[in-house]
Order: sequence, then structure tokens, then C-alpha cells
Amino acid sequence: MEIEKKNRFVEFIKRYGMFVVVGLVIIAVALTFTLIAALGNSVPTSTNTLNFRLPMSEASIIKDFSNTELQKNETLNQWEAHLYIDFASENPDVYAVLDGTVKSVEKIYLDGYTITIRHSDGFESIYSSLSEDTLVKEGDKVTAGQKIGTVDNTANGELKMGDHLHFAMKLNNNFVDPNNYLDLQEK
Ligand SMILES: [Zn+2]
Repeated sequence: MEIEKKNRFVEFIKRYGMFVVVGLVIIAVALTFTLIAALGNSVPTSTNTLNFRLPMSEASIIKDFSNTELQKNETLNQWEAHLYIDFASENPDVYAVLDGTVKSVEKIYLDGYTITIRHSDGFESIYSSLSEDTLVKEGDKVTAGQKIGTVDNTANGELKMGDHLHFAMKLNNNFVDPNNYLDLQEK
């Protein structure tokens, strides 16, 4: 009885072993493709879950982002790419656009008082032309919508624009267009 069972098993393997192997290979390949597809999709999905707030309330854009068309800088009297968005508002308060950690608070000659915040997923947000009395310091944890300072006219490179926020975003150390991440329709 025992021997007969074994023989049947051997018989089965001899007859169908090849099909079993081919079947397993097909399943393995299908699983691999499924996994690759899932990993590929996970990148934009996680970015979409980042809920960016606006850096100012009731603001209007007085100069938009442009990396291809040059824009006139009236202060420096030159044509230049503007990898920032300039916001002006009656309300001078400036808010963190996302949870993060303050990377630096510094005074830069052309940009004025500047706060840089590091976020998850390789994002950084940069707030320039701020008033000297910033409300955060390097290493502070901030939450989305938290007030971090007020605007002023401290950017020597944009003095003729008056009080405004000179705002930029970076992804993996490269400037990106904030229009792609902020919902500027509701500003
Ligand atoms: Zn600007």
C-alpha cells in the first residue's frame, strides 16, 4: 500500500512535473510584476498624501515661478529666472506649508531673512524676505499651518516689490514649481 502510493507519486511527478515547474515559474513572474507595479505606484501615492497648506492667507501672487521664461527684476534691473513665487497680503503672517523641522534661519543678502524647513519625502520649503523677528530657530519642529514669522522687505534683490514673501520649494535639493503642490486656487 505504502509502496503503491510512492509509485503513484513518482508516476505523477514524471508525468506532470514539467507542468508544475512551468506553473510555478509563471506564478513567480506574475508576482514579481505585481510587486514592481505596486512599488512604482507607491511613490506618487505617498506624495499625494502630503497635504500642503498655503504659506500666507488671502495672498495674491505678485510674481510667479518661472524656470524657462526670464522675468524682469526691477530692483536689480536684469532679466532672470524666478524659481520662487512672491506672495503679498494684507495679513503679514507666514505659515509652514507642511510638518517638518527647521533646517536653518539665516540672513542672505539678496533674499533677506530666510527660514528653510525640511519635510518628509525629500521636500524643503524656503521662506524669504521675512522680518528679522522670526518665530522659530534651527532644529525646531513645526506643524503645517504654524505661524513661523511675518513678511517684511528684507530681500535686497527684490526691494522694489515692497513687503512680500519670496517662497520656494525643493524636492531632493532641486527647485520645483510650488504651483504643482500648493492649492493656489484657494489662496
Ligand atoms: Zn521673488
